[in-house]
Amino acid sequence: MLQDPVDHLLMSLHNNFGWGDPFEVFDKMDEESNAESADENLPTYHETIKYMNENDMLQQKYHSRPGIHYKKDECSYNFSKENEGPWPDNLFDLLGKYIVDRYDEEGKIYLFEDCISKVGEKYFIESGLNLKKGKQYFINIVREIVLWHELGHWITHWMTGNDNCRWNLTESYIINGSTKDTHEGLAQAFTFYAIIKIYDQNQRNNYLQVFNYMLRDQASCYHKHYEIMNHPNFSWKGLLRGIKMLRIKENPEQVTIDNLVSEMPKILFN
Ligand SMILES: [Zn+2]
Repeated sequence: MLQDPVDHLLMSLHNNFGWGDPFEVFDKMDEESNAESADENLPTYHETIKYMNENDMLQQKYHSRPGIHYKKDECSYNFSKENEGPWPDNLFDLLGKYIVDRYDEEGKIYLFEDCISKVGEKYFIESGLNLKKGKQYFINIVREIVLWHELGHWITHWMTGNDNCRWNLTESYIINGSTKDTHEGLAQAFTFYAIIKIYDQNQRNNYLQVFNYMLRDQASCYHKHYEIMNHPNFSWKGLLRGIKMLRIKENPEQVTIDNLVSEMPKILFN
């Protein structure tokens, strides 16, 4: 896979489905420099970086990524071997968060390193010892899985579709009890997508096993990706079409898994 887990997921969606604009971040720089420069014939930052990328002069990179913050807060749950009780059923919330101050602004990703290390270490002790990999290998896998899950929320909220549109942010984008299944299901589906796009089979299997391990004791919303992906009409292209259709709903109550999957088959006639 591309070295950087953010590029691995975002560039794949961009290259395969035309989602997002890796160079959008340069538009702001262009606006600022336009204000200063009188010469309209000079190429813009956006055009220059895009040209260099397309001509293999730069490594492919998704520049317009969200801010990612690594937090050192002490984990609030005891993941030690002695604690054999069920895991908290919102593990992904303990490990990371995608936080928006306002729905019509881009959010930020937070990763909670202490909890991530503890889950990676627990997996290493319980299941990873015979794989001849060190503890840190599994901690890194847990961190990447959580990062992909949070990027899944960012993709749903902020990444433009191949129609160049985002969600109707002031009306139908809302995360509450009635839409949580859809948002968590989509975050998990994008996590799964990132895992199956790992080229090396052994590495892919290791990631899949850690992902399954992290699903134990989890609330049903963290399993909703199965409902989406097991649908007979499922395809990744169809899922993205379903998201585009959800985004134009006017009522957040219509943001349901049923509505999402009902839009997937129409891809055949598109
Ligand atoms: Zn989530």
